[in-house]
Amino acid sequence: AKAIKGNSYRFFTPEMHEKARARLTMESALRRALERQELEVHYQPRLDVATLQVVGMEALLRWNHPQLGRVPPAQFIPLAEETGLIGTIGEWVLQQACRHSRRWVQALGRPLRVSVNLSPRQLHDQQLVAKVRQALRESGLPAQLLELELTEGSLAQDPHTAERTLGRLKALGLRLAVDDFGTGHSSLSYLRRFPVDVLKLDRTFLPGLTEVAEGASFSTLAQAILHLAHTLSLRVVAEGVETREVFDFLKDAGCDEAQGYFFCRPLPPREFEAFLRGSLEQ
Ligand code: C2E
Ligand code: CA
Ligand code: CA
Ligand code: CA
Repeated sequence: AKAIKGNSYRFFTPEMHEKARARLTMESALRRALERQELEVHYQPRLDVATLQVVGMEALLRWNHPQLGRVPPAQFIPLAEETGLIGTIGEWVLQQACRHSRRWVQALGRPLRVSVNLSPRQLHDQQLVAKVRQALRESGLPAQLLELELTEGSLAQDPHTAERTLGRLKALGLRLAVDDFGTGHSSLSYLRRFPVDVLKLDRTFLPGLTEVAEGASFSTLAQAILHLAHTLSLRVVAEGVETREVFDFLKDAGCDEAQGYFFCRPLPPREFEAFLRGSLEQ
């Protein structure tokens, strides 16, 4: 079938119909995921590179659908973003993360910082600051133990509004991180313009297996980014650290914190708490 819209042609193949239908199915399933309690927040520890102490954790959303199975965030987060569902879901993640963290901080007597991902749409939600304040108040988590991760993309969308919102978020006392640093654009100017505290170095900058095998030194680019970040008094967190070798590179290069499968995968709340207790006993 051919559909004419203005002077552009849209041609639907059976395969495209199939894709569109799969998307619609997923969308309506996602709409009900929260109330059906199919969503869960998992946590991945973040370690201080010098001391190997757990200093915090990143909250990562998981969706387990009875028929679709475990849907990867890379699939359903963009859908949630496009449909606007990310508003409700993101607020729920924030509340969960604050509640869990407050419990662990209290139970273990350690100032663990929780990091929550914010999508572009969330950053440009007029109610964001109120929602964050509410999540802090309701959970009792001290603001300085909350960190929000933003991507360069969401800062680029509307830098002026972003700047104002980030200023108001900072005034609450929390920390801001730029996620996936280096994968977007105009990175450098952003670091000066926005009141960020942390830079998350994307996995693509870490040396791969072959480079490690060849005895290469920590990539020059990563080293330059680390140097720059430290000049601007930013902390650098390396993500996706999978091997001892990469960890050693990071340590030599003076990276501040790291997370990745080498230490621990993202875990459901109960298992994460057990991991925390275990790491304290060492
Ligand atoms: P991200 O924020 O860059 O999160 C890091 C991703 O790397 C996570 O994937 C994590 O599970 C994965 N990871 C951690 N350690 C390793 C490692 O050693 N090796 C490799 N290969 N991967 C590792 P995940 O959980 O599938 O999430 C994917 C993306 O979905 C996240 O990327 C983030 O952009 C988004 N996302 C996840 N949860 C949320 C959320 O609550 N809100 C929003 N807005 N986005 C979220
Ligand atoms: Ca992140
Ligand atoms: Ca990231
Ligand atoms: Ca990433």
